Amino acid sequence: MSEQLALLGGKPVIEGELAPYRSVGEKEEAAVIEVIRSGCLSGFYGSPGPEFLGGPKVRAFEDAWKTRYGVKHAVSVNSATSGLSCAAAAVGISPGDEVICPPWTMSATVITALTYGGIPVFADIDEDTFCIDPKSVASLITAKTRAVVAVNLFGHPAPLAELRALCDKHGIYLIEDNAQAPIASEHGRATGTIGHIGVFSLNYHKHIHTGEGGICVTADDTLAARMQLVRNHGENVTSMLPDGDLTNMVGFNLRLSEMAAAVGLVQLSDVDRHVEKRERIAEALTEGTKDLDGWIVPKVREGCRHNYYQWVVRYDAAAVGVSRELFAKALTAEGFPIFPGYVAPLYRLPVFRERKAIGRDGWPFTLTDRTYQDGLCPVTERLHAEEAMLFEPCAYAVDDDLLERLVAAVRKVHAGRGQLNAIAGKAAQ
Ligand SMILES: *Cc1c(COP(=O)(O)O)cnc(C)c1O
Repeated sequence: MSEQLALLGGKPVIEGELAPYRSVGEKEEAAVIEVIRSGCLSGFYGSPGPEFLGGPKVRAFEDAWKTRYGVKHAVSVNSATSGLSCAAAAVGISPGDEVICPPWTMSATVITALTYGGIPVFADIDEDTFCIDPKSVASLITAKTRAVVAVNLFGHPAPLAELRALCDKHGIYLIEDNAQAPIASEHGRATGTIGHIGVFSLNYHKHIHTGEGGICVTADDTLAARMQLVRNHGENVTSMLPDGDLTNMVGFNLRLSEMAAAVGLVQLSDVDRHVEKRERIAEALTEGTKDLDGWIVPKVREGCRHNYYQWVVRYDAAAVGVSRELFAKALTAEGFPIFPGYVAPLYRLPVFRERKAIGRDGWPFTLTDRTYQDGLCPVTERLHAEEAMLFEPCAYAVDDDLLERLVAAVRKVHAGRGQLNAIAGKAAQ
Protein backbone atom coordinates (compact mmCIF):
# COMPACT_ATOMS: atom_id res chain seq x y z
CA MET A 1 0.00 0.00 0.00
CA SER A 2 1.30 3.43 -0.87
CA GLU A 3 1.10 6.24 1.63
CA GLN A 4 -2.09 8.33 1.39
CA LEU A 5 -1.61 11.33 -0.84
CA ALA A 6 -2.09 14.82 0.62
CA LEU A 7 -4.52 15.59 -2.19
CA LEU A 8 -6.72 12.80 -0.78
CA GLY A 9 -6.43 13.86 2.85
CA GLY A 10 -3.03 12.40 3.76
CA LYS A 11 -0.20 14.28 5.47
CA PRO A 12 1.82 16.46 3.08
CA VAL A 13 5.53 15.70 2.82
CA ILE A 14 6.33 19.41 3.10
CA GLU A 15 4.25 21.60 5.36
CA GLY A 16 3.85 25.31 4.85
CA GLU A 17 4.96 27.46 1.97
CA LEU A 18 8.52 27.37 0.74
CA ALA A 19 10.50 30.46 1.72
CA PRO A 20 11.98 32.56 -1.06
CA TYR A 21 15.76 32.55 -1.53
CA ARG A 22 17.36 35.92 -0.92
CA SER A 23 20.52 36.70 -2.81
CA VAL A 24 20.87 40.24 -1.47
CA GLY A 25 22.24 40.93 2.00
CA GLU A 26 24.48 43.19 4.03
CA LYS A 27 27.09 43.72 1.33
CA GLU A 28 24.46 45.00 -1.10
CA GLU A 29 22.99 47.17 1.65
CA ALA A 30 26.37 48.76 2.35
CA ALA A 31 26.97 49.33 -1.35
CA VAL A 32 23.67 51.17 -1.74
CA ILE A 33 24.27 53.30 1.35
CA GLU A 34 27.66 54.31 0.01
CA VAL A 35 26.03 55.56 -3.20
CA ILE A 36 23.30 57.41 -1.36
CA ARG A 37 25.88 59.12 0.85
CA SER A 38 27.79 60.18 -2.25
CA GLY A 39 24.72 62.14 -3.34
CA CYS A 40 25.14 61.05 -6.97
CA LEU A 41 22.42 58.51 -7.74
CA SER A 42 23.01 58.64 -11.49
CA GLY A 43 26.07 59.88 -13.34
CA PHE A 44 24.51 59.87 -16.81
CA TYR A 45 24.05 62.85 -19.04
CA GLY A 46 22.44 62.52 -22.49
CA SER A 47 24.87 64.67 -24.43
CA PRO A 48 28.46 64.42 -25.66
CA GLY A 49 31.11 64.34 -22.96
CA PRO A 50 32.50 62.06 -20.30
CA GLU A 51 29.12 61.66 -18.55
CA PHE A 52 27.55 60.14 -21.63
CA LEU A 53 28.74 56.72 -20.44
CA GLY A 54 27.45 57.02 -16.88
CA GLY A 55 28.79 57.49 -13.37
CA PRO A 56 31.52 55.67 -11.42
CA LYS A 57 29.45 52.69 -10.28
CA VAL A 58 27.98 52.06 -13.72
CA ARG A 59 31.44 52.13 -15.24
CA ALA A 60 32.96 49.96 -12.52
CA PHE A 61 30.13 47.49 -12.94
CA GLU A 62 30.63 47.30 -16.69
CA ASP A 63 34.40 46.89 -16.21
CA ALA A 64 33.86 44.06 -13.72
CA TRP A 65 31.46 42.40 -16.14
CA LYS A 66 33.99 42.64 -18.98
CA THR A 67 36.66 41.06 -16.81
CA ARG A 68 34.44 38.27 -15.59
CA TYR A 69 33.25 37.31 -19.07
CA GLY A 70 36.43 38.14 -20.96
CA VAL A 71 34.52 40.41 -23.36
CA LYS A 72 35.56 43.65 -24.99
CA HIS A 73 32.38 45.63 -24.29
CA ALA A 74 29.62 45.57 -21.68
CA VAL A 75 26.72 48.01 -21.87
CA SER A 76 24.49 48.09 -18.80
CA VAL A 77 20.79 48.89 -19.18
CA ASN A 78 17.72 49.04 -16.98
CA SER A 79 16.39 45.61 -18.03
CA ALA A 80 17.12 42.72 -20.37
CA THR A 81 14.10 43.86 -22.35
CA SER A 82 15.86 47.19 -22.87
CA GLY A 83 19.02 45.27 -23.75
CA LEU A 84 17.20 43.23 -26.39
CA SER A 85 15.84 46.52 -27.82
CA CYS A 86 19.36 47.96 -27.94
CA ALA A 87 20.55 44.79 -29.67
CA ALA A 88 17.74 44.90 -32.25
CA ALA A 89 18.53 48.56 -32.94
CA ALA A 90 22.28 47.98 -33.09
CA VAL A 91 22.12 45.17 -35.64
CA GLY A 92 19.97 47.43 -37.78
CA ILE A 93 16.63 45.63 -37.75
CA SER A 94 14.57 47.49 -40.34
CA PRO A 95 10.86 47.29 -41.21
CA GLY A 96 10.14 43.99 -42.95
CA ASP A 97 13.36 42.27 -41.87
CA GLU A 98 12.77 38.80 -40.54
CA VAL A 99 14.04 37.74 -37.13
CA ILE A 100 14.09 34.03 -36.35
CA CYS A 101 13.32 33.18 -32.73
CA PRO A 102 11.88 30.42 -30.59
CA PRO A 103 8.21 30.55 -29.52
CA TRP A 104 8.84 29.14 -26.06
CA THR A 105 10.43 31.98 -24.09
CA MET A 106 9.56 35.19 -22.34
CA SER A 107 7.71 37.49 -24.75
CA ALA A 108 10.40 40.21 -24.71
CA THR A 109 12.68 37.91 -26.74
CA VAL A 110 10.51 38.47 -29.80
CA ILE A 111 8.62 41.71 -29.14
CA THR A 112 11.72 43.90 -28.97
CA ALA A 113 12.60 43.23 -32.64
CA LEU A 114 8.96 43.79 -33.59
CA THR A 115 9.07 47.37 -32.33
CA TYR A 116 11.73 48.11 -34.98
CA GLY A 117 9.49 46.63 -37.66
CA GLY A 118 11.16 43.21 -37.49
CA ILE A 119 8.93 40.28 -38.39
CA PRO A 120 9.28 37.41 -35.90
CA VAL A 121 9.57 34.03 -37.61
CA PHE A 122 9.19 31.15 -35.20
CA ALA A 123 11.58 28.21 -35.30
CA ASP A 124 10.80 25.04 -33.38
CA ILE A 125 12.78 23.80 -30.40
CA ASP A 126 14.66 20.66 -29.44
CA GLU A 127 12.63 18.36 -27.19
CA ASP A 128 15.57 17.44 -24.98
CA THR A 129 16.95 20.88 -24.13
CA PHE A 130 13.94 23.08 -25.07
CA CYS A 131 16.27 25.43 -26.97
CA ILE A 132 15.89 26.60 -30.57
CA ASP A 133 16.65 23.87 -33.12
CA PRO A 134 19.31 24.86 -35.68
CA LYS A 135 17.72 22.62 -38.35
CA SER A 136 14.48 24.53 -37.99
CA VAL A 137 16.40 27.83 -38.06
CA ALA A 138 18.26 26.83 -41.23
CA SER A 139 14.99 25.94 -42.97
CA LEU A 140 13.58 29.41 -42.27
CA ILE A 141 16.47 31.61 -43.40
CA THR A 142 15.51 33.77 -46.40
CA ALA A 143 16.96 36.83 -48.12
CA LYS A 144 14.91 38.87 -45.62
CA THR A 145 16.43 37.32 -42.50
CA ARG A 146 18.48 39.84 -40.52
CA ALA A 147 19.02 38.07 -37.20
CA VAL A 148 18.44 34.98 -35.11
CA VAL A 149 17.60 35.36 -31.43
CA ALA A 150 18.61 32.24 -29.49
CA VAL A 151 17.48 31.82 -25.90
CA ASN A 152 19.54 29.82 -23.42
CA LEU A 153 16.28 28.64 -21.97
CA PHE A 154 15.89 27.60 -18.35
CA GLY A 155 19.66 27.96 -18.03
CA HIS A 156 20.71 25.51 -20.74
CA PRO A 157 22.86 26.71 -23.67
CA ALA A 158 21.23 26.72 -27.09
CA PRO A 159 23.53 25.14 -29.72
CA LEU A 160 25.39 28.42 -29.91
CA ALA A 161 28.56 27.55 -31.82
CA GLU A 162 26.47 25.81 -34.47
CA LEU A 163 24.07 28.76 -34.69
CA ARG A 164 26.91 31.26 -34.86
CA ALA A 165 28.50 29.36 -37.76
CA LEU A 166 25.13 29.23 -39.54
CA CYS A 167 24.57 32.97 -39.03
CA ASP A 168 28.09 33.85 -40.17
CA LYS A 169 27.63 31.73 -43.28
CA HIS A 170 24.51 33.73 -44.18
CA GLY A 171 25.89 37.10 -43.09
CA ILE A 172 23.22 37.58 -40.40
CA TYR A 173 23.44 38.32 -36.69
CA LEU A 174 23.12 35.98 -33.73
CA ILE A 175 21.69 37.64 -30.63
CA GLU A 176 21.72 35.58 -27.44
CA ASP A 177 18.95 36.13 -24.95
CA ASN A 178 20.97 34.98 -21.96
CA ALA A 179 18.55 36.18 -19.28
CA GLN A 180 18.27 32.75 -17.68
CA ALA A 181 21.83 31.45 -17.94
CA PRO A 182 24.33 33.82 -16.28
CA ILE A 183 27.25 31.39 -16.09
CA ALA A 184 26.21 28.57 -18.36
CA SER A 185 28.68 27.40 -20.97
CA GLU A 186 29.09 25.41 -24.15
CA HIS A 187 32.43 23.61 -24.56
CA GLY A 188 34.05 25.98 -22.08
CA ARG A 189 32.73 29.18 -23.67
CA ALA A 190 30.37 31.34 -21.63
CA THR A 191 26.82 31.71 -22.90
CA GLY A 192 26.16 35.31 -23.87
CA THR A 193 29.59 35.63 -25.49
CA ILE A 194 29.16 33.33 -28.49
CA GLY A 195 26.62 35.36 -30.46
CA HIS A 196 27.36 38.83 -31.87
CA ILE A 197 25.54 40.28 -28.87
CA GLY A 198 24.54 38.60 -25.60
CA VAL A 199 21.90 40.04 -23.29
CA PHE A 200 21.80 39.25 -19.56
CA SER A 201 18.96 40.06 -17.15
CA LEU A 202 19.35 41.46 -13.66
CA ASN A 203 15.65 41.30 -12.86
CA TYR A 204 14.59 40.27 -9.36
CA HIS A 205 13.57 36.78 -10.54
CA LYS A 206 16.90 35.96 -12.12
CA HIS A 207 19.92 34.20 -10.53
CA ILE A 208 21.53 37.52 -9.64
CA HIS A 209 19.70 40.80 -9.73
CA THR A 210 19.60 44.52 -9.15
CA GLY A 211 15.81 44.66 -8.84
CA GLU A 212 15.53 45.72 -12.45
CA GLY A 213 18.53 45.72 -14.75
CA GLY A 214 20.34 44.11 -17.64
CA ILE A 215 23.64 44.12 -19.47
CA CYS A 216 24.65 43.56 -23.10
CA VAL A 217 28.03 42.20 -24.15
CA THR A 218 29.73 42.23 -27.53
CA ALA A 219 33.18 41.97 -29.08
CA ASP A 220 32.23 44.45 -31.79
CA ASP A 221 33.16 48.15 -31.34
CA THR A 222 30.42 49.43 -33.64
CA LEU A 223 27.65 47.36 -32.10
CA ALA A 224 28.76 48.48 -28.63
CA ALA A 225 28.72 52.17 -29.60
CA ARG A 226 25.29 51.77 -31.17
CA MET A 227 23.91 50.19 -28.01
CA GLN A 228 25.40 52.99 -25.90
CA LEU A 229 23.65 55.53 -28.15
CA VAL A 230 20.27 53.84 -28.03
CA ARG A 231 20.57 53.61 -24.24
CA ASN A 232 21.07 57.33 -23.83
CA HIS A 233 19.34 59.75 -26.22
CA GLY A 234 21.73 58.85 -29.03
CA GLU A 235 20.34 61.39 -31.50
CA ASN A 236 22.28 64.04 -29.57
CA VAL A 237 25.54 62.15 -29.63
CA THR A 238 25.93 60.80 -33.16
CA SER A 239 29.47 62.17 -33.24
CA MET A 240 30.29 58.96 -31.31
CA LEU A 241 29.10 56.72 -34.14
CA PRO A 242 32.12 54.89 -35.54
CA ASP A 243 30.61 54.48 -39.02
CA GLY A 244 28.21 57.43 -39.29
CA ASP A 245 25.26 55.11 -40.03
CA LEU A 246 22.16 56.66 -38.46
CA THR A 247 19.97 53.56 -38.81
CA ASN A 248 17.91 53.18 -35.61
CA MET A 249 19.96 55.79 -33.78
CA VAL A 250 16.95 57.35 -32.11
CA GLY A 251 17.67 57.04 -28.44
CA PHE A 252 15.79 56.28 -25.26
CA ASN A 253 16.61 56.50 -21.62
CA LEU A 254 17.45 52.89 -20.73
CA ARG A 255 20.13 53.74 -18.17
CA LEU A 256 20.94 51.87 -14.99
CA SER A 257 21.12 53.89 -11.76
CA GLU A 258 24.28 54.13 -9.65
CA MET A 259 22.52 52.24 -6.83
CA ALA A 260 21.56 49.37 -9.10
CA ALA A 261 25.10 49.23 -10.50
CA ALA A 262 26.52 49.14 -6.96
CA VAL A 263 24.26 46.19 -6.11
CA GLY A 264 25.21 44.57 -9.41
CA LEU A 265 28.90 44.75 -8.53
CA VAL A 266 28.31 42.79 -5.34
CA GLN A 267 25.95 40.32 -6.99
CA LEU A 268 28.45 39.66 -9.78
CA SER A 269 31.20 38.97 -7.25
CA ASP A 270 28.94 36.27 -5.73
CA VAL A 271 27.46 34.90 -8.94
CA ASP A 272 29.15 31.51 -8.61
CA ARG A 273 27.69 30.91 -5.18
CA HIS A 274 24.15 31.94 -6.17
CA VAL A 275 24.15 29.85 -9.33
CA GLU A 276 25.83 26.80 -7.77
CA LYS A 277 23.12 26.75 -5.14
CA ARG A 278 20.46 26.41 -7.81
CA GLU A 279 22.46 23.83 -9.72
CA ARG A 280 22.90 21.70 -6.61
CA ILE A 281 19.16 21.66 -5.93
CA ALA A 282 18.37 20.76 -9.53
CA GLU A 283 21.01 18.05 -9.66
CA ALA A 284 19.75 16.48 -6.44
CA LEU A 285 16.18 16.48 -7.75
CA THR A 286 17.39 14.86 -10.95
CA GLU A 287 19.45 12.24 -9.12
CA GLY A 288 16.61 11.44 -6.72
CA THR A 289 13.87 10.99 -9.32
CA LYS A 290 15.53 9.92 -12.56
CA ASP A 291 14.54 6.26 -12.21
CA LEU A 292 10.80 6.94 -12.19
CA ASP A 293 8.80 5.72 -15.17
CA GLY A 294 7.37 8.44 -17.37
CA TRP A 295 9.33 11.11 -15.55
CA ILE A 296 12.05 12.39 -17.86
CA VAL A 297 14.52 14.52 -15.92
CA PRO A 298 16.38 17.45 -17.55
CA LYS A 299 19.08 16.49 -20.03
CA VAL A 300 22.36 18.33 -20.34
CA ARG A 301 23.91 18.36 -23.79
CA GLU A 302 27.49 17.05 -23.88
CA GLY A 303 30.05 19.74 -23.04
CA CYS A 304 27.44 22.09 -21.56
CA ARG A 305 26.85 23.65 -18.16
CA HIS A 306 23.19 24.13 -17.21
CA ASN A 307 22.32 26.88 -14.69
CA TYR A 308 18.78 25.66 -13.91
CA TYR A 309 16.74 28.81 -13.90
CA GLN A 310 13.96 26.25 -13.90
CA TRP A 311 14.09 22.51 -13.40
CA VAL A 312 11.90 21.18 -16.19
CA VAL A 313 10.72 17.61 -16.39
CA ARG A 314 9.07 15.93 -19.36
CA TYR A 315 6.09 13.98 -18.17
CA ASP A 316 4.74 10.99 -20.03
CA ALA A 317 1.11 10.65 -18.95
CA ALA A 318 0.66 7.34 -20.77
CA ALA A 319 3.61 5.78 -18.93
CA VAL A 320 2.57 7.12 -15.52
CA GLY A 321 -1.10 6.48 -16.11
CA VAL A 322 -2.23 9.84 -14.65
CA SER A 323 -2.82 13.14 -16.42
CA ARG A 324 -0.11 15.76 -16.07
CA GLU A 325 -2.50 18.24 -14.49
CA LEU A 326 -3.66 15.78 -11.82
CA PHE A 327 -0.09 14.70 -11.04
CA ALA A 328 0.96 18.36 -10.69
CA LYS A 329 -2.00 19.01 -8.40
CA ALA A 330 -1.08 16.04 -6.21
CA LEU A 331 2.56 17.13 -6.07
CA THR A 332 1.61 20.69 -5.17
CA ALA A 333 -0.61 19.30 -2.40
CA GLU A 334 2.48 17.55 -0.99
CA GLY A 335 4.11 21.00 -0.75
CA PHE A 336 6.18 20.72 -3.95
CA PRO A 337 5.04 23.62 -6.12
CA ILE A 338 5.23 22.56 -9.72
CA PHE A 339 3.28 23.89 -12.65
CA PRO A 340 2.44 22.36 -15.99
CA GLY A 341 3.16 23.89 -19.33
CA TYR A 342 5.31 27.09 -19.16
CA VAL A 343 4.11 29.84 -21.51
CA ALA A 344 1.94 29.03 -24.51
CA PRO A 345 3.77 29.25 -27.85
CA LEU A 346 4.18 32.99 -28.34
CA TYR A 347 2.50 32.98 -31.74
CA ARG A 348 -0.76 32.49 -29.86
CA LEU A 349 -0.47 35.97 -28.36
CA PRO A 350 -3.10 38.39 -29.72
CA VAL A 351 -0.37 40.59 -31.23
CA PHE A 352 0.44 37.74 -33.67
CA ARG A 353 -2.98 36.15 -34.02
CA GLU A 354 -4.52 39.51 -34.91
CA ARG A 355 -1.38 40.81 -36.62
CA LYS A 356 -1.67 44.11 -34.85
CA ALA A 357 1.35 45.72 -33.18
CA ILE A 358 2.38 49.31 -33.80
CA GLY A 359 -0.24 51.83 -34.88
CA ARG A 360 -3.81 51.35 -36.03
CA ASP A 361 -3.10 49.61 -39.30
CA GLY A 362 -1.24 46.53 -38.14
CA TRP A 363 2.32 47.61 -38.91
CA PRO A 364 4.74 45.87 -39.33
CA PHE A 365 2.58 42.89 -40.32
CA THR A 366 1.45 44.97 -43.30
CA LEU A 367 4.95 44.22 -44.65
CA THR A 368 4.68 40.42 -44.61
CA ASP A 369 2.45 37.55 -45.68
CA ARG A 370 3.49 35.48 -42.70
CA THR A 371 0.67 34.30 -40.46
CA TYR A 372 0.75 32.80 -37.00
CA GLN A 373 -1.49 29.76 -36.76
CA ASP A 374 -1.18 26.63 -34.65
CA GLY A 375 1.02 23.95 -36.12
CA LEU A 376 4.00 26.26 -36.75
CA CYS A 377 6.13 24.57 -34.07
CA PRO A 378 4.77 21.11 -33.22
CA VAL A 379 7.46 20.21 -30.68
CA THR A 380 6.81 23.37 -28.69
CA GLU A 381 3.07 22.80 -28.83
CA ARG A 382 3.42 19.24 -27.56
CA LEU A 383 5.75 20.18 -24.71
CA HIS A 384 3.44 22.99 -23.67
CA ALA A 385 0.18 21.07 -23.95
CA GLU A 386 1.25 17.64 -22.75
CA GLU A 387 4.70 17.10 -21.36
CA ALA A 388 6.50 19.94 -19.60
CA MET A 389 6.39 20.38 -15.84
CA LEU A 390 8.34 23.21 -14.26
CA PHE A 391 9.77 23.77 -10.84
CA GLU A 392 11.66 26.88 -9.93
CA PRO A 393 14.09 25.60 -7.28
CA CYS A 394 16.13 28.73 -7.61
CA ALA A 395 13.36 30.83 -6.21
CA TYR A 396 13.41 29.09 -2.84
CA ALA A 397 15.67 28.69 0.14
CA VAL A 398 16.21 24.93 -0.01
CA ASP A 399 18.39 23.22 2.63
CA ASP A 400 19.39 19.55 2.71
CA ASP A 401 16.34 18.49 4.70
CA LEU A 402 13.95 20.27 2.34
CA LEU A 403 15.80 18.87 -0.64
CA GLU A 404 15.23 15.33 0.65
CA ARG A 405 11.58 16.09 1.15
CA LEU A 406 11.20 17.51 -2.34
CA VAL A 407 12.55 14.25 -3.73
CA ALA A 408 10.34 12.26 -1.35
CA ALA A 409 7.27 14.20 -2.48
CA VAL A 410 7.81 13.26 -6.12
CA ARG A 411 8.42 9.64 -5.21
CA LYS A 412 5.34 9.54 -2.99
CA VAL A 413 3.01 10.89 -5.69
CA HIS A 414 4.53 8.58 -8.28
CA ALA A 415 4.14 5.58 -5.98
CA GLY A 416 0.59 6.65 -5.13
CA ARG A 417 -0.53 7.16 -8.70
CA GLY A 418 -3.03 4.31 -8.30
CA GLN A 419 -4.89 6.43 -5.75
CA LEU A 420 -5.05 9.25 -8.33
CA ASN A 421 -6.38 6.86 -10.95
CA ALA A 422 -9.20 5.99 -8.64
CA ILE A 423 -10.31 9.61 -8.23
CA ALA A 424 -9.77 10.39 -11.90
CA GLY A 425 -11.98 7.36 -12.68
CA LYS A 426 -14.66 8.66 -10.31
CA ALA A 427 -14.57 12.15 -11.80
CA ALA A 428 -15.06 10.64 -15.24
CA GLN A 429 -18.20 8.67 -14.22
C1 LIG B 1 13.47 37.58 -17.72
C2 LIG B 1 13.64 37.40 -19.16
C3 LIG B 1 13.68 38.48 -20.05
C4 LIG B 1 13.41 39.88 -19.63
O1 LIG B 1 14.23 40.32 -18.64
P1 LIG B 1 13.96 41.72 -17.91
O2 LIG B 1 15.26 42.07 -17.30
O3 LIG B 1 12.89 41.46 -16.91
O4 LIG B 1 13.51 42.70 -18.93
C5 LIG B 1 13.94 38.23 -21.38
N1 LIG B 1 14.12 36.99 -21.83
C6 LIG B 1 14.07 35.91 -21.02
C7 LIG B 1 14.31 34.56 -21.59
C8 LIG B 1 13.81 36.08 -19.66
O5 LIG B 1 13.74 35.02 -18.85
